[in-house]
Amino acid sequence: MVDLLEFEGKNLFKSYGIAIPSGKLIHSASDFNDFKEEHVIKAQVPTGHRGVNGGVVKFKNKEEFLSAFNKISSLTFNGFKPTYFLIEEAVNHYRELYVALTLDRNNKAPALLISSEGGVDIEKIPKIKIESLNLDVFVGMLDYVKRQAFKFVGLDDKYKAQFYGILDSMWKLFTDKDAELVEINPLAVTDHGLIALDSKISIEDDSLFRHSEYKRDEYSPDELEMKAKKKEISFVKLDGNIGLIANGAGLTLATIDQIKLAGGTAGDFLDLGGTDDPARVAEAIELVKDSNPKVLFINIFGGVTKADTVAEGIVQAIKKLNITFKIVVRLKGFNEEKGKELLRKNGIDAFTDMDAAIKEVVNLSNYGDSN
Ligand code: GDP
Ligand code: MN
Repeated sequence: MVDLLEFEGKNLFKSYGIAIPSGKLIHSASDFNDFKEEHVIKAQVPTGHRGVNGGVVKFKNKEEFLSAFNKISSLTFNGFKPTYFLIEEAVNHYRELYVALTLDRNNKAPALLISSEGGVDIEKIPKIKIESLNLDVFVGMLDYVKRQAFKFVGLDDKYKAQFYGILDSMWKLFTDKDAELVEINPLAVTDHGLIALDSKISIEDDSLFRHSEYKRDEYSPDELEMKAKKKEISFVKLDGNIGLIANGAGLTLATIDQIKLAGGTAGDFLDLGGTDDPARVAEAIELVKDSNPKVLFINIFGGVTKADTVAEGIVQAIKKLNITFKIVVRLKGFNEEKGKELLRKNGIDAFTDMDAAIKEVVNLSNYGDSN
C-alpha cells in the first residue's frame, strides 16, 4: 500500500473537481513570503495525527511562520521526518465532516463512510455517529446512496449539489487510482461551500504498475527493516528479546505465538521463505544479530527448504560473526539428520520437537531476570 502525501492527494482532489484551500508546497523557509493573510503550515508525512502532534500550525506573520517552520521541521511523526511542508490559507469553517471511501472486507464491497463529527480519528468517533453504506463495485455511487449520506450529515440543502459532486468525484478517483482508501477528514463546511482540508489516499500495491508516478522506494522508520528490505528479506522488528528466524510466514507467526504462550516474547519476525542458500541464511542471522537479541531461535521445517543447507548457513554465520548470544535450532523435515550432524560438529545440539525447543528458548530468554 502506498500512502500519498497530503499535497499529492489534494492535487488529485483538485483535478477531480473537489475544492481544496489554495496553497503552496515548500521545502525551506525561504520558499514562502506572503504574509497578508492568515495561513496554516502542515508537515507532509505519510502518517496521521499531525494536528495533535504539532504538525499543523496557524500563523499570521513572518515571525510566527519562522518559529512554526523551525518547530515543525525539527519534529518526527511516527518516525517520519518531514522534508516538505504545505502552506495553505487558513480556512474559516463552522463544521467538520468525515467522508471516506474504503473497502469493507466483511461485506466484500466498497463502503462509503460518513460522519458529521469529522476532524478526529474515525476510530474515536462513536459507531452510532458513523454511517457505513456499501456500494456495488460495478455500479458505483448511486443516487440513493448520495441521498442517504446527505441526510445523515444533516447539511443545509444549499450544499446538496456540491456534496453529491464530491461523492461522485471520490468514487471516480477511488476506482481510477485503484485506491484502498480515499478519505477527506475534515471536509470543512464554510459559507463558500465544502472544502477538503485534508486528504488521505492509499493505493493498492498490486496496481502500482498502472500508477508508476506513485511508486516509491519503500521506507520504514526502522533502520534494520530498511536494511532487510534492501536485501529482500521479510523482516519486522518486534519488542521482545528472542531473535527469531523461521521458514514460511505461517510457521514464523505460529512460532511467535508459541513463544508468547510459553512466557517469552519474540524480538522480530523473519521469514526465510523457501530460501536455503547458506549465504542468505547467514545474512538473515546477521540482521537479527544487529537487533541485539538475548537468544536466537531458528525454527526450520524442511520441505522445499533443505534442512542441511540451512544448517550450513548457520555454521557460516557463526564462523563469520562474533556471536555472543545463545543459538537454539529446531530442524525438522528434509535432510534433517544431515543438518543436525553438521550443527553438532559445530557445537549446536538441534531440537526436533517444537515444544522442547520453545521451552529452552524461553528459559534462556528469561535467564537472569529477577521476576
Ligand atoms: P491530521 O491531524 O494529520 O489528520 O491533519 P489535518 O490536515 O486533518 O489537520 C488537523 C486539523 O487541523 C483539522 O482537523 C482541522 O481542524 C485543522 N486544520 C487543518 N487545516 C486547516 C485550515 O486550513 N484552517 C483551519 N481553520 N483549520 C485547519
Ligand atoms: Mn485529517
